[in-house]
Amino acid sequence: MSGLPDAHTQRFKPDMPEVVMHLHMPANPAVGVVVSNEKCTAGKAAAFIRHIAIDVSGTQLAGNLRPGQSFGVLAPGTDERSRPHKVRLYSVASPTGGEGEKRHVIATTVKRLIAEHRDRPGLFLGVTSNLLCDLRPGDEIRLTGPNGKRFLVPRNAGEHDYVFFATGTGIAPYRGMVHDLLEAGVQSRIVLVMGSPYRTDLLYDEHFRSLERDHPGFLYVPTLSRERQQDGQQPMYVRDRLGRVASDLASSFSSGRALVYICGVAGMELGIFEEMALRLSPADLGGYLEIDPEAMGRIGRWDRRMIHRAVRPTRRIFMEVY
Ligand SMILES: Cc1cc2nc3c(=O)[nH]c(=O)nc-3n(C[C@H](O)[C@H](O)[C@H](O)COP(=O)(O)OP(=O)(O)OC[C@H]3O[C@@H](n4cnc5c(N)ncnc54)[C@H](O)[C@@H]3O)c2cc1C
Repeated sequence: MSGLPDAHTQRFKPDMPEVVMHLHMPANPAVGVVVSNEKCTAGKAAAFIRHIAIDVSGTQLAGNLRPGQSFGVLAPGTDERSRPHKVRLYSVASPTGGEGEKRHVIATTVKRLIAEHRDRPGLFLGVTSNLLCDLRPGDEIRLTGPNGKRFLVPRNAGEHDYVFFATGTGIAPYRGMVHDLLEAGVQSRIVLVMGSPYRTDLLYDEHFRSLERDHPGFLYVPTLSRERQQDGQQPMYVRDRLGRVASDLASSFSSGRALVYICGVAGMELGIFEEMALRLSPADLGGYLEIDPEAMGRIGRWDRRMIHRAVRPTRRIFMEVY
């Protein structure tokens, strides 16, 4: 049971903004024109990740995409079964007002999918991610969307504090969300925990460092899993930051003001939930996770099948994992 008053328990409903969806479907795609395509990792990063801006003037996507939503990309050609390639989704990395304050320009953050498969020789290159990463300014690309209505910042943004957890390209929506929140001048506490293997894989690192310098309410916590942190601490995962976040935002968690967002590699939510169960007091935890007693006894051995069954996030938790 949560110790929070009724309005702050599982019955809490965030005041979500109205968004439009599916204005362009595969049968009537929007045609966007690439404005820029730039590497957004530093030095010799392990992954190839690019920031891509696309002009969607004259389409229904212009002015209708919010950070937290995604749009679809339709690669030309057909798959191995001679069927048109399916739509792949990419998160909006631009603010609500558009990239560079141009409402008709949207941006995303794309990781090249490069893999090897046991059952087939050679390198496998993901169809759409590599198509996007190879695009040049002036190239056209077919788009669908908008998609998604749940992973958003609420309308009454200033009444909440925010804990944003990201791994890899999961940082994309926060680039726009943090911008929107800071531009709106909210007095909220905003903590962004970004996880990557190495320092060179931190995306938009300098951008977030500079925002942190200019905005005392914004805390940026880069978290490296394969090398020491910049302050000399041991390698760690984003979940290992929960203790610091929980004490930094102690009153926000106990009042239910804090909203927790998780975006990136599927599975990252498990560790974060386990850590919340360990670090938050039972009274505070109830506002975020409803956990069966049997699951409470198995912390450290949770698996994804337990989510929504034995471990039920309340609507103070927002998830976009893929
Ligand atoms: C809501 C949402 C938001 C997303 N946002 C982003 C984002 O912001 N940035 C981003 O980079 N990605 C994002 N993604 C992931 C993105 O949609 C794609 O899944 C990703 O880019 C890979 O697509 P692809 O076409 O390059 O790879 P695909 O060609 O679709 O390959 C995908 C997988 O299928 C396997 N596979 C495909 N064909 C074969 C085969 N013949 N044999 C064996 N295995 C095969 C590959 O190994 C690979 O693991 C998001 C996904 C979702 C659901």
